[in-house]
Amino acid sequence: MEHSFDQEQPTLRRQVRAWVKSHLGSAGDGQLDLESEACRLAKQLGKDGIIAYAVPGKFGADRESVHARSLCVIREELAWGSALADVMFGVQALGASPIALAGSEEQQRHYLPPLAKGERLAAFALTEPNAGSDVSAIATSALRDTNGYRLNGVKHFISNAGIAHTYVVFASTHPEAKAKGLTAFIVESDSAGFTVKEKTPLLSPHPIGVLAFDDCFVPQHQRLGGEGEGWKIAQRTLDTLRCTVGAAAVGFARRALEEALTYSRNRRQFGRALAEFQGIQFKLADMATELEAARLLVYQAASMHDHHHPEAPLKTSMAKLFATEAAQRIVDQSLQIHGGSGVVVGNVIERLYRDVRALRIYEGTSEIQRLIIAKHLSRKEPADGL
Ligand SMILES: Cc1cc2nc3c(=O)[nH]c(=O)nc-3n(C[C@H](O)[C@H](O)[C@H](O)COP(=O)(O)OP(=O)(O)OC[C@H]3O[C@@H](n4cnc5c(N)ncnc54)[C@H](O)[C@@H]3O)c2cc1C
Repeated sequence: MEHSFDQEQPTLRRQVRAWVKSHLGSAGDGQLDLESEACRLAKQLGKDGIIAYAVPGKFGADRESVHARSLCVIREELAWGSALADVMFGVQALGASPIALAGSEEQQRHYLPPLAKGERLAAFALTEPNAGSDVSAIATSALRDTNGYRLNGVKHFISNAGIAHTYVVFASTHPEAKAKGLTAFIVESDSAGFTVKEKTPLLSPHPIGVLAFDDCFVPQHQRLGGEGEGWKIAQRTLDTLRCTVGAAAVGFARRALEEALTYSRNRRQFGRALAEFQGIQFKLADMATELEAARLLVYQAASMHDHHHPEAPLKTSMAKLFATEAAQRIVDQSLQIHGGSGVVVGNVIERLYRDVRALRIYEGTSEIQRLIIAKHLSRKEPADGL
């Protein structure tokens, strides 16, 4: 596939890069009050028209033909500056996408414009204490009631828990059908029977927590798609969003390489700059090469997604797997080049070391990406070319 990431939305890239410079400063996040900082960033991203790109289709900012690439450009640039800014953008896309993909005209008209302006925040609630990688184990139930459904159960590790207004929740309407019995619902934060039970502190700044549904009534008109279509909606959402997780990894890795280059040119040992030692030069060369490979995979996957290529989900899994694992290695090597100063709290590389870790876990762990890739391979005939 013909592809050049340098030409992907250069104006958008410049716009987001300028936003990062003016709204984050060189140290990025680290503020003590995580939730108010998260809301401030989301509001500012909304005001400056960036969060509108998180909403696909006519209620967002973008042409659908370039949507995945725009998401990647934005996440790469935001992650370069701040994990929290990237999270606020990425989770808005994760929560808005199912509504854009499967919502009725009325649902889209009602929910998407305030999400596109950053006036309201979205969340995507799939994971449960006993259903992480194994979605078929989801136990949250949705039983039919007059003019709607009653939801009961618990969701954990839900980004934006407690600050989101619009939650897309996946619950079982037909438990015997496992994943195929899942249905998606839009649940408003002020619904009776809905509570945020816990806020969960993480390694890196990220608003996240536990949701409880206790006979929570959801009217019929807030069901997203048909009964049993929940897993399909979640999968279609993740197919797009996974390559953007790879893009965030590229952003962290690019920053880590830049930090390593600067540090190794300035730090002198044995009478020379670190960058003059071949042992350091080889590390930098490997980091730059891995970064390039990760970036190519990510933008190839995004481009294939935008072109509705049948192999886009496979390439997306490859991109997420490789980019997040490579970013971890690049950040680790950069920290090594920084020596002791790399582990000092407040140093950019110390922050990146914490920020990059969760990317290998959320939206499908590295192991789950390998399972998806292996499944695609098992369907191929080697003689047809791979
Ligand atoms: C920062 C962060 C944000 C998140 N945000 C959201 C969100 O907004 N909404 C949401 O719904 N969820 C969210 N999650 C949850 C996330 O998607 C899950 O953590 C992830 O899917 C893994 O599930 P688990 O943690 O239960 O791990 P488990 O599924 O219990 O897996 C544990 C380990 O076993 C491995 N494993 C599992 N099954 C297999 C297998 N078949 N073969 C080989 N290895 C296997 C996994 O790869 C992993 O290494 C978030 C998680 C994090 C960390």
